[in-house]
Amino acid sequence: MTASIESNDTVRTRFAPSPTGYMHIGGMRTALFNWLWARHNSGKFILRIDDTDRQRNLDEALGPILGAFRWLGLDWDEGPEIGGPHGPYFQSQRGELYQQALQKLLEAGKAYYCFDTPEQIQADRAEAEQEKKNYLNIRRSLDLSAGDIEERLARGDAHVVRFLVPRGETIAVDDAVRGHVEWDTGLISDPVICRGDGSPLYNFATVIDDADMQITHVIRAEEHLSNTPIQLLIYNALAQPQPQFVHLPYVAAPASKEKLSKRKLDKYRKNQQFRKMFEAADRVFPQIGLASSEGLDPVMVEYYERIGYLPAAVLNALARLGWSLDDKTEIMSLDEVVENFSLDRIVKSPAGLDPEKLVSFQTHWAGELPPEETLDRILPYLQKAGLIGEEISSDDRSYIEQVVAALGDRIKVFSDILDYASFFQSDDEFAYDEKAFKKRVQKEGAAELLAKFKEQLATVEPFEVDQLDKLMHDFVEAEGIKIGDIIHAVRVAVTGSPAGPGMFDCLHLLGRERCLARIDRALSSTH
Ligand code: GLU
Repeated sequence: MTASIESNDTVRTRFAPSPTGYMHIGGMRTALFNWLWARHNSGKFILRIDDTDRQRNLDEALGPILGAFRWLGLDWDEGPEIGGPHGPYFQSQRGELYQQALQKLLEAGKAYYCFDTPEQIQADRAEAEQEKKNYLNIRRSLDLSAGDIEERLARGDAHVVRFLVPRGETIAVDDAVRGHVEWDTGLISDPVICRGDGSPLYNFATVIDDADMQITHVIRAEEHLSNTPIQLLIYNALAQPQPQFVHLPYVAAPASKEKLSKRKLDKYRKNQQFRKMFEAADRVFPQIGLASSEGLDPVMVEYYERIGYLPAAVLNALARLGWSLDDKTEIMSLDEVVENFSLDRIVKSPAGLDPEKLVSFQTHWAGELPPEETLDRILPYLQKAGLIGEEISSDDRSYIEQVVAALGDRIKVFSDILDYASFFQSDDEFAYDEKAFKKRVQKEGAAELLAKFKEQLATVEPFEVDQLDKLMHDFVEAEGIKIGDIIHAVRVAVTGSPAGPGMFDCLHLLGRERCLARIDRALSSTH
């Protein structure tokens, strides 16, 4: 019988990222589920850095990961920067603990020095394959005497330490998502747990740390289910209680069954649903001084921060990736998710990232913001793009507020404001959409109508939405034309673009002088 964690222990979960220089959105979902389970149970969430493959620049590699946690407001109770009772929280600094555990296993005969050369092992494998047998280690080194081993180690012979897998046993786990899973140890070859230079391997270091940090629930990506039997064997060999394992289905690319991966970006750029996200990055990021989607893509959490999603929207979307409250609730605040989170509603099948759903969460949560805060989230985009200065007068602020109000739900993510740059540019600087200009302003007869309408604009009083609306309708009637013959030409002439807020809102926002100047500019460009 194997000991297991007592159910009345304080829940302790952990997320153990390797410092890769970015936070994967799927990894963030794993982190969130760990955080949620800890918070739901008033337990502890631990951040532990899996940096056994030594990094040249740890700060650079870890910064974006901690940044993603901070942006989403997911705090950790123990880990980098804050320490805690089970530190250090960097695997690269826990060498002594691994060595102690290794000695224990070696002394108990549960691990052994293996001096087989890679060529020998390759030959053993080839032989097993030829005999159509499952490869298992030959364990030649087990025949060496203690003296032989000491001599070879002193001589500096190349070696590793392997865990001695007890053959002929069944090892099982009751995973909270995958259910009961069993493995025949007779099919498991002896894993290397420590390299010749003393550095531990993942399966070994993870068990030592999870045991030492008293982790009660290991919630992680399902790709680690295959590592679980080895980890279970190590728990047993060290007489440590096993945590509850919870293997999460992977996060798939939009409208696909394939695991979301940084390696498939080229494919995603062609994915119907994903494409828009890449296009937005290519359009927006260079304007605000960031790399395009080549450097900051939607597999990374930072993408969502930089393009202007709300943490609440991303959290809502992540919570729904493989977990549900019931069969209908979509919109949930983080507090609601914490309150209701349960392991038994995690699904087995992969959950696809859904850009449209993300936008609908964004629309919902952005709608909950007071206008002041919406404005505060929009202003930095205008500033970084150089459309407004660092100092904002109260008149400027009120103008921007009116533009934002007129745009309404056309602004989904906050950087969408940059699609309406012409409201913030001078009359002779904003750009005309070439296609729209040709179609609407350079059309036969359009310039004459524009010029006539401009004269009326020059004198209409007051220059307010209702009067402008009436003016145009009277104009259409008097000229015997259709509204479409003039309204599109006016829009393109004053905003540069074929789409945007209500036409009369646009005129009113810009004011008489600017509208007249813009129509003049358009007319002079028609010749
Ligand atoms: N560093 C490992 C990973 O990122 C941790 C796996 C685990 O949670 O055990 O996949």
